[in-house]
Amino acid sequence: MVEVRTLKSDEYILSVAVPVSVRQTFDYLPPTELSVSELSQLQPGLRVKVPFGNRQTIGFLLAIKKHSTIDKKRLKAATAILDPTPLLPDSLFQLAQWAAHYYHHPIGDALMHTLPRLLRKDSAVKTISHWRLTHGGQGLPEGALKSAPKQAELLALLQQQASIDAAQLKEKGITRATAKALCDKQLIESFTVADTAMVTGQAHTVATDSAATDNIADNLKEQPFTLNDEQQHAVTRITQQNGYRCFLLHGVTGSGKTEVYLQCIAHCLQKKQQALVLVPEIGLTPQMVARFKQRFNAPLALLHSGLSDRERLSAWQAARTAQAMIVIGTRSAVFTPMPQLGLIIVDEEHDASFKQQDGFRYSARDIAIKRAYEQPCPIVLGSATPSLESLQHALEGSYNRLQLQQRATGASQPSITLLDIRHTPLDEGFSPALLSAITETLTQKKQVLVFLNRRGFSPVLLCHDCGYIACCDHCDVSLTVHFHAHQLRCHHCDKRQALPKHCPVCASSELDFRGVGTERSERALQKHFPQTPVIRIDRDTTRAKTAMQDLIKKVEEHPCCILVGTQMLAKGHHFPRVMLVAVVDADRGLFTADFRGPEKMGQLLLQVAGRAGRESQSGQVIIQTHQADHPLMISLSQDSYTQYADHLLQQRAASQLPPFGYLALVRAEAKKLESAEALLHHFRCHLPATAGLRLLGPLPAPMARRAGYYHAQLILQAQHRKTLHRALGQLSAYAEQHPLAKRLRWSIDVDPIDPF
Ligand code: ADP
Ligand code: ZN
Ligand code: ZN
Repeated sequence: MVEVRTLKSDEYILSVAVPVSVRQTFDYLPPTELSVSELSQLQPGLRVKVPFGNRQTIGFLLAIKKHSTIDKKRLKAATAILDPTPLLPDSLFQLAQWAAHYYHHPIGDALMHTLPRLLRKDSAVKTISHWRLTHGGQGLPEGALKSAPKQAELLALLQQQASIDAAQLKEKGITRATAKALCDKQLIESFTVADTAMVTGQAHTVATDSAATDNIADNLKEQPFTLNDEQQHAVTRITQQNGYRCFLLHGVTGSGKTEVYLQCIAHCLQKKQQALVLVPEIGLTPQMVARFKQRFNAPLALLHSGLSDRERLSAWQAARTAQAMIVIGTRSAVFTPMPQLGLIIVDEEHDASFKQQDGFRYSARDIAIKRAYEQPCPIVLGSATPSLESLQHALEGSYNRLQLQQRATGASQPSITLLDIRHTPLDEGFSPALLSAITETLTQKKQVLVFLNRRGFSPVLLCHDCGYIACCDHCDVSLTVHFHAHQLRCHHCDKRQALPKHCPVCASSELDFRGVGTERSERALQKHFPQTPVIRIDRDTTRAKTAMQDLIKKVEEHPCCILVGTQMLAKGHHFPRVMLVAVVDADRGLFTADFRGPEKMGQLLLQVAGRAGRESQSGQVIIQTHQADHPLMISLSQDSYTQYADHLLQQRAASQLPPFGYLALVRAEAKKLESAEALLHHFRCHLPATAGLRLLGPLPAPMARRAGYYHAQLILQAQHRKTLHRALGQLSAYAEQHPLAKRLRWSIDVDPIDPF
């Protein structure tokens, strides 16, 4: 006879990912009260509440296994299983695990990132009361309880549906007292369940004018533009794609990329599929969101950092239940569950904000590509100035490049002039020629945009008279000025030298390493143009919640004014009256210690230049530079991003930097620079010498001292991704055991984009 034996609860081991800083999972026994049938329903992806140290925390069930390396007697039991079914579809759960692995980030923390904040705590899961019929209630004949009509009504309801909860009760106008009376008669009984209605049920705040239909016109509120040939070609290629393909939509500013997205999405809705649109910062692009709302009837969900936790949950919910057919969101929206996903769009794909810069340092763009691949569905990366990584993929043929070279409105591209300012007297950075160009534009009652490039780039030493920039003899990058130490240092090989007093080329003492700040420029402009409003737009003036909107309004109210600001001005705004864009200091971004400096600078300059003359008249861009004969500057002035990028790609290939090599940064911070460097030194020594892997450092990070802590970094540079990942695996396993690493903050950044 065969012995039938069911597994006992201690024969199930739960492998749980807990959001802590170590890269390991933890084993638990199931909660003690689970029945055999409940045990058999456990599956990966469920959230579990578990004791951890002396607190309770929430983790994800990763696997159910029979054996643990830890003695079962020492395993603790999980406190509760929080969900009846996983919150994330399996594909997304897998994607998040892949991302944790790829970015060498602790898995519990990475998985938590995929959820709206409210679902990261168990307070979100309240228990709520339900009522259902008892045996006695089921047997009751129709028409009973005539004398108590409300009780009869509830009974009748429960004969039609299995159970009713408190909220539905209220909706029907039935009081709890009525329910209690029936309970007392033992016709119904109450029971409690976890409040997962919030997660599995209806979403609240989404405008549901109509669900998507297969008639394209029904989904649209307004007539779309008739596309030009280039746009039409792009839309055709994208919408004909079944399954995965990555398209790089490379279109000059104003070429109608957004219109291409809109029309591709219309096709997607027609197929009853959802579209996910990732944008850099929604707060900075209200105009784009407005265009989506204006175009579609289909319900839209917005996911960005400006939402309250409740709003975020309900938008997430709407996406997860496919009530929202279009999801527009920032970085973290890449993890939004969308059961009918049919298209992903990443707008301004080159933008740095797609990379999370702390904690779980993932790139939303790269994860989006992986997601599209696994889905599978097409993905569109759009930009006027694509990242070198994406361009290289397009050149190699793994992405499909679609070009838009004309402005959609028929306006011509702005003309770009280089203004050589060597030997020129400057007033707070402004040359006489630039000031007179500004005067002329103002006389025509037009707006001027003055662009300063101040943030995020390390200081370089520049000779104002001859344009000399101090570079490392060995590394072909600019040296970074360290004011306090009075030194020039190479952030790649750590070569150091004293800060010179005279230019080594022309002996001039006009050495400059700071550039001009936005505030000083604002004052200088106000002095030169006392009658004209000068509006400053940078991080400092836009901190308040509605500040950006207010400033944009101010610009619209003053047909003739000067806007002065930083890279914030380059992002997506539409200032139709700007006729002159003046770039005060281009050199500082082009020649920095950051190997991505020139790429970022070129992108920025062309984005800013794209602000000029968006409407019918063509605008003008003037770039002040000490390097007017440098090939990079020349290709920029020809507005040829492709040529500019080719140039940079050649340099990257020569030095095996991305996209021709793979990088990771290991960072450490400590009250003393020596401690941070010592930790990284241990890491470095632990790594065996490996062919195809270069280690640089430990070195102080640019802006090494921040908020009282010193930051140091170790750079790993590899020819192949595999080599890099193997080394990072070894390094993190070692680091987690290292006593010093337990006391200091350290992190791994794969595919870093911060300057170093
Ligand atoms: P991009 O996203 O490439 O910067 P937009 O999509 O914002 O460009 O388009 C620039 C301008 O051109 C917008 O005002 C848009 O309404 C208009 N536009 C786009 N496509 C067309 C078209 N096919 N015909 C006429 N105007 C268009
Ligand atoms: Zn000089
Ligand atoms: Zn060097």
